[in-house]
Amino acid sequence: MADAALVELAKRRGFFFGSNGAYGGTAGFYTFGPQGAALKRNVESAWRDRFTLQEGNREIESPTVMPEPVFEASGHLETFDDMLVECGECGDSHRADHLVEDATDVEDAEALPAEEVETLIRDHEIACPACGSPLAGRDVEDFNLMFATDIGPGDGQRGYLRPETAQGIFVEFPRLKEYARGNLPFGITQIGPAYRNEIAPRGGLLRLREFTQAELEQFIDPETDDPPLERVTDVEVRLYPAAEQTKPDGDYRHTTVGEAVADGTIGSPWVGYYLGVAMEWYERIGVDLNRFRFRQHLAGERAHYAADCWDAESEVDGDWIEIAGFAYRGDYDLSKHDAYGDDTFTVFKRYDEPKTVERATVDPDMSVLGPAFGGDAAAVADALETLAERDPEAFAAETVAVEVDGETHEVDADVAGFAVEEVTETGEHITPHVVEPSFGVGRTVQTLLAHAYETDEVDDEERTYLSLAPEVAPRDAAVFPLVTSDERLTALADRVAADLRAAGLAVSYDDSGSIGRRYRRQDEVGTPFCVTVDRDGIETDGAETVTVRERDSAAQVRLPVDELAGELTRLLSGESFEALTDRYETVETDVETN
Ligand code: AMP
Repeated sequence: MADAALVELAKRRGFFFGSNGAYGGTAGFYTFGPQGAALKRNVESAWRDRFTLQEGNREIESPTVMPEPVFEASGHLETFDDMLVECGECGDSHRADHLVEDATDVEDAEALPAEEVETLIRDHEIACPACGSPLAGRDVEDFNLMFATDIGPGDGQRGYLRPETAQGIFVEFPRLKEYARGNLPFGITQIGPAYRNEIAPRGGLLRLREFTQAELEQFIDPETDDPPLERVTDVEVRLYPAAEQTKPDGDYRHTTVGEAVADGTIGSPWVGYYLGVAMEWYERIGVDLNRFRFRQHLAGERAHYAADCWDAESEVDGDWIEIAGFAYRGDYDLSKHDAYGDDTFTVFKRYDEPKTVERATVDPDMSVLGPAFGGDAAAVADALETLAERDPEAFAAETVAVEVDGETHEVDADVAGFAVEEVTETGEHITPHVVEPSFGVGRTVQTLLAHAYETDEVDDEERTYLSLAPEVAPRDAAVFPLVTSDERLTALADRVAADLRAAGLAVSYDDSGSIGRRYRRQDEVGTPFCVTVDRDGIETDGAETVTVRERDSAAQVRLPVDELAGELTRLLSGESFEALTDRYETVETDVETN
């Protein structure tokens, strides 16, 4: 579907729109209207159900502002940059790598050095997309994407809005591991806002400066913990491996998770497991699987510490967009915080049986080291201990050399008190590895809208409808009194709406305009079922009845009011509407007369 039609519908019907319009608008910030906020919340609930509750994981909520040292440790201060080129004529800012990718056959310009990107801009005569002036000769610079702020007044601490929810999980690992009683594997999730000062926000919800992430950090012992792969082994996936992307006639691999892990296409069984879980989840929430694939990162795209990385990509408006990333991150995150932070980011791994091991130790004679090295004596003793652990052979010589603050000190071997002892160890401290599925909620919402957008003809009129899965649709049902001039109809419609709400359904009530218009309005926001209270429903003998209309087929049945909540609940949890057309009287037309 045309992007413009979706954006127009999103705005008109209250899904999302650019924020702060009264003040000229702020690029990269979007407000979710009543329908969009409900849809987004439903996507988050479905994610929580699958990735937190069903996996037995636990969810936290951490602050969005974090102090500078966190991002020194994580590497974001140093490397969380995009390539910026500014137009000398109109001053517009652009992602230099994207301009190069659009104008050449380079696929991953971000991985190139800035000078090479400058050369490509010059050689391909790339112009400013805003004003058309040549960009040749303009500098390509690294632009850090984090929003900086000050924590507290005056010379308070420098802080940053988190660029991903993950860091809020990593920094709290020392406490989170206690809640898990030190046992691996365990998973922690977080759903919340992340902030990136994108150079060129675009595409509705696709590239925002504030967006919502849903992330899972799965902490594992790489030596012993395997995922429950058997649960997803038969899940069918469309993979686009790195090797295929670099071939001129590269193609997809249609396979199963089990096979792709077994033949090594997916390098990590944990990543494979979560690709399988994600595949089922995307199907459940209504992503069109013909417009969906898993693409492996090319070598240059991957962070140096990440062993295997795949993106979930959906096709929106002719482009493939990354809607989630799946990375095997090794021990990078926790070992960085262990080195920079003041706490312990390891877990104690108890052996099944205590082990007797040989350990080289030193017991330096301080009455000799003191006079010989003065203020450096303690540091020399520490250096001897480290040397004994790393290179016990060094103590076979008559003297050993250690370095303290760049200065080499010679120590007689017998003064070091070197010995090899047998010690019994009950376990060891290990740094867990991390597997990270990371989802963008806004991109998922936009995918669902694009994939659900349909047009057809009902009662000789063209209509637009969103065939959203009932689990994520903003409303479960809408209730209409056919006319407002008859109090008996409005009273029953009020009661029906109240009863459905009491049964836990999200219900709209609409009594304005023709019934056909009201159906169209609900179709456009993806309400799966419309309930109409008409005269036939109250004037016939016996129980009061209403009509129920299904969105996609526009088919209708008439059923007793008493059975409505039960039937709708069953429909919403997946029963087909055909099951109702077998049991109840069907109603022929969409637009009734009175
Ligand atoms: P990343 O940490 O870059 O892998 O991002 C994780 C997920 O967050 C991506 O798969 C996207 O779905 C989402 N995401 C990243 N950047 C943005 C953005 N600027 N606007 C909206 N969603 C984003």
